[in-house]
Amino acid sequence: MAVIVYAESDNGLYKKSSFEAVTYGKDLANKLGTTCLAVSIGSKGAENLGTFGADKHMHVENDVLATFNPQAYSKVLSEVFEGHNGSVLVLSQTYNGKSIAPLCAVKQNAALVTGIVDMADTNGGFTVKKTTFSSKAIAHVSIKQDKKVLTVIPNSYKIARDGDDVSVEEATTSVIDGDVNSVVISINKETGKVPLTEAELVISAGRGLKGPENWNLVEDLAAALGAATACSKPVSDMEWRPHSEHVGQTGITIVPNLYIAAGISGAIQHLAGVSSSKVICVINTDPEAPFFKAADYGIVGDVFEVLPKLLKRVKEVRGQS
Ligand SMILES: Cc1cc2nc3c(=O)[nH]c(=O)nc-3n(C[C@H](O)[C@H](O)[C@H](O)COP(=O)(O)OP(=O)(O)OC[C@H]3O[C@@H](n4cnc5c(N)ncnc54)[C@H](O)[C@@H]3O)c2cc1C
Repeated sequence: MAVIVYAESDNGLYKKSSFEAVTYGKDLANKLGTTCLAVSIGSKGAENLGTFGADKHMHVENDVLATFNPQAYSKVLSEVFEGHNGSVLVLSQTYNGKSIAPLCAVKQNAALVTGIVDMADTNGGFTVKKTTFSSKAIAHVSIKQDKKVLTVIPNSYKIARDGDDVSVEEATTSVIDGDVNSVVISINKETGKVPLTEAELVISAGRGLKGPENWNLVEDLAAALGAATACSKPVSDMEWRPHSEHVGQTGITIVPNLYIAAGISGAIQHLAGVSSSKVICVINTDPEAPFFKAADYGIVGDVFEVLPKLLKRVKEVRGQS
């Protein structure tokens, strides 16, 4: 019996959410009285996963695994799960995690629960806490099956760095070319930006910004804070901003420590993607805007006045010119 954790990396860099998943796996393994085995596939980062709680780190690599492929990666994880008598497979709920978790669950005939936001309660059973109804509610789900696949929402579980280094065991796999039915030909990446799903600080804006020519207000504040930028759906529909920044029910779900929403009304479809943020600050001229009900801090004011003042203050506090 072991808790297996998929430690996702990209171009030789672990995602922050991988460390969260490993810490989650370690804490769960401690509760279950078993060990935590971290698995990296294709590439691996420089950090030692033992630091985050892994008792063992296995790395699997071959030509087929050089780029992410759901069929191949789920096959590797299933092989490791079977080979190490896995009881729980933990993945971060990233795009990649979401695409392989169901495949792993089917291969293992395991229960699958997604959207987990807290440690499982293992007293007399196995109950997990997860978001539901587009993050508007929390559900407690009791899992009856012995084998489980869990996806943990990024930024919802605190990383611990109190473990000891472990050595990396290189492992082989039976995955071959014939196992995959699609191949990535090229990837165009945005560089130099904080990825939205991993950002701890997010500055987001909506139609209240009036047009794309005003986004320097958002970008300047984001740069000063080291934050990622996001937007409401109409903003990306009108092509003021790229679709990759659209958050909400039909966009990306994010769980930053701080979400600043400027000129966004707070429709339920928008809240569905951001309401789990730890702290929400809303700037809106309309004191009746629905977003204020979900806000921890509210500023009734004009974004064209408030954002420059915030930027000035952030720069003063941070000693930026
Ligand atoms: C099936 C479906 C799915 C959807 N999915 C999503 C989704 O994933 N994400 C999403 O965002 N939306 C989604 N929507 C759309 C959603 O219902 C809202 O229409 C949208 O979120 C509104 O965007 P907004 O707040 O930018 O614009 P508006 O609703 O136009 O609000 C603009 C706000 O800016 C304020 N404002 C105006 N001027 C200023 C100023 N100078 N300073 C400060 N405040 C100002 C206004 O008071 C207003 O509250 C979806 C809708 C449907 C039907």
